[in-house]
Amino acid sequence: MNQNNQTADVAIIGGGVIGLAVARALALRGVRRVLLIERDSLGAESSSAAAGMLAPQAEANRAHEFFHLTCQSRDLYPGYAAALLAETGIDIQLEATGTLYLAFTEHDEDELEKRYQWQKEAGLPIEKLTAAEVRRLEPSINEEVRAALKFPLDTQVENRRLLTALTAANERLGVDLETGTTVTSLRIERNRVTGIETSRGFVAADAVVIAAGAWSSQLGAADKALPDLRIKPVRGQMLCFEPTPPLARHVIYSQRGYLVPRRDGRLLAGSTTEHAGFEKQVTAAGVYSILSAALEISPQIASHPLTDSWAGLRPRAADTLPVLGPCAEIGGVYYATGHYRNGILLAPITGELIAGAIVDKVFPAKLEIFSPDRFGLVAVS
Ligand SMILES: Cc1cc2nc3c(=O)[nH]c(=O)nc-3n(C[C@H](O)[C@H](O)[C@H](O)COP(=O)(O)OP(=O)(O)OC[C@H]3O[C@@H](n4cnc5c(N)ncnc54)[C@H](O)[C@@H]3O)c2cc1C
Repeated sequence: MNQNNQTADVAIIGGGVIGLAVARALALRGVRRVLLIERDSLGAESSSAAAGMLAPQAEANRAHEFFHLTCQSRDLYPGYAAALLAETGIDIQLEATGTLYLAFTEHDEDELEKRYQWQKEAGLPIEKLTAAEVRRLEPSINEEVRAALKFPLDTQVENRRLLTALTAANERLGVDLETGTTVTSLRIERNRVTGIETSRGFVAADAVVIAAGAWSSQLGAADKALPDLRIKPVRGQMLCFEPTPPLARHVIYSQRGYLVPRRDGRLLAGSTTEHAGFEKQVTAAGVYSILSAALEISPQIASHPLTDSWAGLRPRAADTLPVLGPCAEIGGVYYATGHYRNGILLAPITGELIAGAIVDKVFPAKLEIFSPDRFGLVAVS
């Protein structure tokens, strides 16, 4: 860290998609000295492990504030992709093909019917497809399929390209991206943050954003309690195939797994939901369960090479909702974490909300359910 980095207007802890999106939004609003600190390399954790699906409707069983937030963020993506392309020349490969959701059992069909009914009544774009119709769209789908839904607005983005684009955009905007540096604690004086302690020394900052993903609850402050988010890592494993010619064009879900086709020919298959602490391995049981779901969707996968596998840790707060906005107890501390299964989807809106809270001192009242103040305080040693 050079001498100039010893003070910042805003210091962001964590260089995943959320920290990078917040940094860019702050710089675009004219904040001059934005410093992002990442202990590893940018995007090294959950953000590069993700499947990149932007699928709020496919995953929702009812309308509530979280659902509205995810739809709002999805709908920001076309503008976000265009802006990043203009700023950096990097195409984040936002697809417009839509998402298919397949039913293979009577229970699956009941679930899909419920989802169809409430979304139709809510006036959301959704289509019912017969087995023949969905197989016309994707001929590699298992002939055992009974019915399907199509969510025309739910889609995907290439999340690793998104990370590259956000990094380039931040560099162009003059954001200081400091990798290989660990933040050890916040410094708080008279109920206001004054900076952060790092493995390379103290950095004074007027505001601090906690965007440290699954590690966010590990950050504390000497002699001062912080909101008790109880963020836990939830492991997700992924497999990657390289079928030639490509097997699918749409994101395809079932109740047991999903397939995500990439423009470069890769086909991702996910995932698991495991409480395994901070262990990031791919396991035999994980591979088995992902493969079973993938082969149920498309038995043709069986003959194609499995070329890669990985795992990541989704950051999940105690009540599974994201943690967004200022901390009432301690001036200058903001949270942007707990995005669990939806951090790629929620990155654009998170950037906007946190930058708005810091620069304009505005945080929408209806989003109070995401506030860190919903948790009690705890001292982290
Ligand atoms: C298998 C899998 C599939 C997924 N699929 C999707 C999907 O399809 N769509 C979707 O929207 N979401 C998906 N997600 C979820 C998504 O990946 C996460 O919600 C999102 O990446 C969280 O971003 P983040 O920046 O908060 O966390 P991270 O990407 O984990 O970044 C946090 C960063 O903080 C750094 N850090 C931690 N502590 C410190 C410290 N003390 N000092 C400095 N740096 C620190 C870490 O090194 C890390 O780089 C998936 C996740 C997984 C695992």
